[in-house]
Amino acid sequence: MPSNESKLTVVGAGLVGSLLALYLARRGHTVEVLERRADMRRETLDAGRSINLAISTRGLHALRQVGLEEEALKHAIPMRGRVIHPVKGELAFQPYGKDDSQHINSLSRGWLNKFLMTQAEATGRVSIRFQQRVTRADPAAGALTVLDEATGETREVRDAVVFGTDGSGSAVRQALQSQAGSQSDSETLGHGYKELTIPPGEGGRFQMEKHALHIWPRGTYMLIALPNEDGSFTCTLFLPWEGPVSFASLQTPAALEAFFQEQFPDAKALIPGLVEEFFSRPTGHMVTVKCAPWHAGERTLLLGDAAHAIVPFYGQGMNCGFEDCVVLDALLAKQPDFGQAFREFERLRKTNADAIADMAVENFIEMRDSTADPRFLLEKGVEKVLLNAFPGEFVSRYTLVSFSRVPYRLAYGVGAIAGGIVSELAKDLKRPEDVDLDRAAKLIRGRLTPFMEEH
Ligand code: FAD
Repeated sequence: MPSNESKLTVVGAGLVGSLLALYLARRGHTVEVLERRADMRRETLDAGRSINLAISTRGLHALRQVGLEEEALKHAIPMRGRVIHPVKGELAFQPYGKDDSQHINSLSRGWLNKFLMTQAEATGRVSIRFQQRVTRADPAAGALTVLDEATGETREVRDAVVFGTDGSGSAVRQALQSQAGSQSDSETLGHGYKELTIPPGEGGRFQMEKHALHIWPRGTYMLIALPNEDGSFTCTLFLPWEGPVSFASLQTPAALEAFFQEQFPDAKALIPGLVEEFFSRPTGHMVTVKCAPWHAGERTLLLGDAAHAIVPFYGQGMNCGFEDCVVLDALLAKQPDFGQAFREFERLRKTNADAIADMAVENFIEMRDSTADPRFLLEKGVEKVLLNAFPGEFVSRYTLVSFSRVPYRLAYGVGAIAGGIVSELAKDLKRPEDVDLDRAAKLIRGRLTPFMEEH
């Protein structure tokens, strides 16, 4: 039976693995982290998945618990809402919350990952070993086969407590899923993504509104852009793999340029490296993984994308993985027995991970399609009026997911009721400010039970 003295092995020094190692070290454990890549603090690695990402309340809370929020926020750019770019005409701003205090933050993935690794090592209890690829796992025994990619040698880790934070293609999950009674449902989105760059303007100025997430919604596809500290924006083009407008249809520089000229003329003018970047950078896949179990006895546990990869459209994958660390830490504080803590962790987190996975897929449709719809804009306006008129009584799905820590499952359910109220009130309305507040009060008090959130 593993104890406080047990060897803890974290597989994967990505965002979640690095933060988890730090949490475990603070509980007094000695932790070895095995990472298949080289040390990104010493070598420039190829641009991989998303250069920047949005961190919101759940992720920031996880950093706050280990004293890292303040430093992270120094490198973050607040995004107060979405700026919608139509093909022609005026830009439209849609705030994310009731006021500017409710915002999400754009942060460099590379910076955050390096920062977390360094902070984990600084505890003196964490050693991160690079170019160590786990090729095989025996979850019930806490055993791993590890290939040293620098030397080509293989070694065995035995009797460890293993935390699988090796991302959406997790080798630890695959081993866990090969056991009897397990299930795994992996759904690849019919869209891929490609990253493009809007460089800084003269003197490092931002060439578009800095404090916003920019969206070019075009029905079945879209372009988005998030700001970076250096004045640039990282754009992500989400396109179907196949079809009339797809990665398959954009095979030549001429086709690409014509497509951008027609659909994203303002963005095209700001992306000088369009052709070079589009044809040289990898096209990313997106997958939703729902699997069970997440643990094997007291020896192995999955966290982060390894347990629950989701599509990126709610900006919650990392936030959810960071929340995993908070929840596991709280359980280990009450219950040092790994087996019981792992079982309870899965019971608490699985339903919430499934809920955010479903909301993330739904949000793809909202972002690429509805954000351009005048009806949707009106409803968003009504939602904002209600958030301000009924503080503590009316909540929206987006605010619950991004600006609170209520369980995702609850955000899903309550958000659906709140959305129904907004639709009813907006039905025959021309302007959000004309919403009937007496009727709103009746609907809200009749259908939504106020609840207090723990801070
Ligand atoms: P990863 O970040 O994938 O890290 C896994 C680590 O394990 C890697 O370092 C990898 O090298 C290592 N590894 C893998 N296999 C092995 C092995 N066999 N042996 C040893 N090491 C191994 N989330 C947000 O919260 N906000 C956002 O705005 C956001 N935007 C996104 C945009 C895009 C385009 C994408 C694709 C994702 C986005 N996400 C976002 C999701 C977020 O990137 C993930 O949820 C997060 O990276 C998960 O962290 P992780 O540590 O679980 O996995």
